[in-house]
Amino acid sequence: MPAQQPLFETLAVIGIGLIGSSIARAAREYGLARQIVAADASEPHRRQATELGLADAVYGDAAEAVKDADLVMLCVPLGAYAAVAAHIGPALKPGAIVSDVGSCKQSVIRDVSPHLPAGCTFVPGHPVAGTEHSGPAAGFAALFHGRWCILTPEPETEAAAVEKVRAFWAACGSKVEQMEPHHHDLVLAITSHVPHLIAYNIVGTADDLETVTESEVIKYSAGGFRDFTRIAASDPTMWRDVFLNNREAVLEMLGRFTEDLIALQRAIRWGEGDALFDLFTRTRTIRRAIIDAGQETNAPDFGRGSAATVAPGPAAPKTD
Ligand code: NAP
Repeated sequence: MPAQQPLFETLAVIGIGLIGSSIARAAREYGLARQIVAADASEPHRRQATELGLADAVYGDAAEAVKDADLVMLCVPLGAYAAVAAHIGPALKPGAIVSDVGSCKQSVIRDVSPHLPAGCTFVPGHPVAGTEHSGPAAGFAALFHGRWCILTPEPETEAAAVEKVRAFWAACGSKVEQMEPHHHDLVLAITSHVPHLIAYNIVGTADDLETVTESEVIKYSAGGFRDFTRIAASDPTMWRDVFLNNREAVLEMLGRFTEDLIALQRAIRWGEGDALFDLFTRTRTIRRAIIDAGQETNAPDFGRGSAATVAPGPAAPKTD
């Protein structure tokens, strides 16, 4: 991607983990900020970020990091947003834009907005991109290529600030969309949050079974179970916070999911093969549409090949 005039003088990334470090790398690689600073609560992560050269300065105190920033990207777990916003609020430079990457948007607006001083603009965002890995070493600049980034500003948000954040994500290679926060949370509940819950649940159930041993679960892990274990290996802090902060939307989608699951259970019980076949045919077309939209590859077995021949490498991209 071509280098360009920096969009911002100073970018402050708060939370230099998977997403924060990917943003810092992309900003550096594509020349999006003249100066990049970072803050993280974790001393080992600060050390790693410094060793990897992810930022020009790395702080333990987020207020120190934001004081000269004209773009502040909050990349901490959702449960830390309110405390971080309260802490950095008084240190923000007049005119600063604050944005974020949190996986739920209503809770983020609730937790951040009250702490921002007049003259600063909040443009909430969510890059729908990630992997099951965490920390500064897990990030990479290309994480956002071809992925959606959803912005959820309030209607009264200053248009110029929204445009600058949109330009930032577009320069990172993302396709940018704007959405109402409540709608964002519903969409992500069904496309991301409930699927993660199902994965955590099925892997937990297999682990709890008394009639099948753990070594059998591991030894005979066929495609279906193995794919669930990848999702169920996602960061426990992040996902705990997603479910605590998108409770209403997840419960609504889970209610609908449970009804449909019971209908399937019934179809199996009563030998209704046509009902099963019709559903499985319909779901195949959804996968086809995701591949056609460029959000997945059509490679068999997700392009992994046999375990014996595949060298360890970067995790397969997944949307969070
Ligand atoms: P991560 O790799 O664990 O990085 C988060 C970093 O923030 C960690 O270094 C963490 O340190 C640090 N941190 C925690 N509390 C902090 C605080 N109060 N002040 C400063 N730093 C703090 O997590 P991530 O995957 O990048 O996720 C970050 C955000 O991105 C979350 O809000 C998540 O919802 C969103 N998101 C994630 C994905 C994904 O697939 N992972 C995708 C899109 C959006 P410790 O490790 O010591 O806590």
